[in-house]
Amino acid sequence: MKVLGIESTAHTLGIGVVDEDEIHCNVKSMFEPDEGGIHPREASEHHYQKALQIINEVDQKTEFELSEIDAVAFSQGPGIQQCLEIGVVIARTLALKYSAELIGVNHCLAHISIGTRTTEAENPTTLYVSGGNTQIVEFRSGRYRVIGETLDTALGNALDKLARKLSYPHPGGPEIEKLAEKTDEIIETTYPIKGMDLSYSGLVTDMERKVGDEKDEVVANTFQEYAYSAAVEALERAMAQSQSSEALLTGGVAMNTRLREMVTKMCEERGAKAYFPPPEYCMDNGTMIAHQGLIQAKAGDRTEIEDSQVDPNWRPDEVKVSWI
Ligand code: AMP
Ligand code: MG
Repeated sequence: MKVLGIESTAHTLGIGVVDEDEIHCNVKSMFEPDEGGIHPREASEHHYQKALQIINEVDQKTEFELSEIDAVAFSQGPGIQQCLEIGVVIARTLALKYSAELIGVNHCLAHISIGTRTTEAENPTTLYVSGGNTQIVEFRSGRYRVIGETLDTALGNALDKLARKLSYPHPGGPEIEKLAEKTDEIIETTYPIKGMDLSYSGLVTDMERKVGDEKDEVVANTFQEYAYSAAVEALERAMAQSQSSEALLTGGVAMNTRLREMVTKMCEERGAKAYFPPPEYCMDNGTMIAHQGLIQAKAGDRTEIEDSQVDPNWRPDEVKVSWI
């Protein structure tokens, strides 16, 4: 079965094509603001302006005709409303044009399922850390359960915010990582954990206040050490509670070397295995949506056009899982 997937929840418009055996293509364009964060209207303008170009590139890269596509999957949520709207319009159009099934998928679950497709993880405890989401998710008793999550800002968003204060453009995570590598020094601040949940807004505000008084690299390193330790501590507790032997790290922040180091060490100490998808599948991409669409389509899931409206707040634990 051939499935085309469309990702458009935030900064990235991505289209991928998969079947059971192969990933046929993974094409994307990322909106990069000149200044500030992601403005919904500007990001959605980027998506509709790039749509045709990306579809044409996908057409060239797949070795079969797009008319052979059996299903078109799209990110139905969660995400930025204006950006989601562009994705669903592309999806409806292609599904009608190619007489293909339409399948709305949950973006968070797609990050997890591309993680299990591209690694040897089977039923991992997932730490999903991206620009807009920070969650620890496990599949237990028929549903994906959110075991812990940020109570305020997402980890990627907090990194981007601190980076802006340090005068770096979006996305700031890689810049904070480079700065932090220059030092081992950390200063005292608040540890951003609340039970099984995380809370990054106080930490980022405190670090923003320290900019100018402390060296940039110390601010960056302190943020990373506190923020990542707290996330890995919550992940470890979730794994201990469910006796999980697999951790999966995904989302854009999963590209971070220090965070990977911490997850690896924690898993080694517990006798568990840590899995990291290839970088192109950690960041938002259309292929993960195509793959999630594929497993749902094979289980008979379909989305009628009249049910295809987007849901910017669609939580992974609200999804009725019919495919496992
Ligand atoms: P996503 O929303 O999953 O596409 O991820 C985007 C987020 O990943 C942004 O907030 C980036 O700052 C962050 N990010 C990308 N690379 C890194 C990195 N090497 N370290 C930390 N964060 C990163
Ligand atoms: Mg994402």
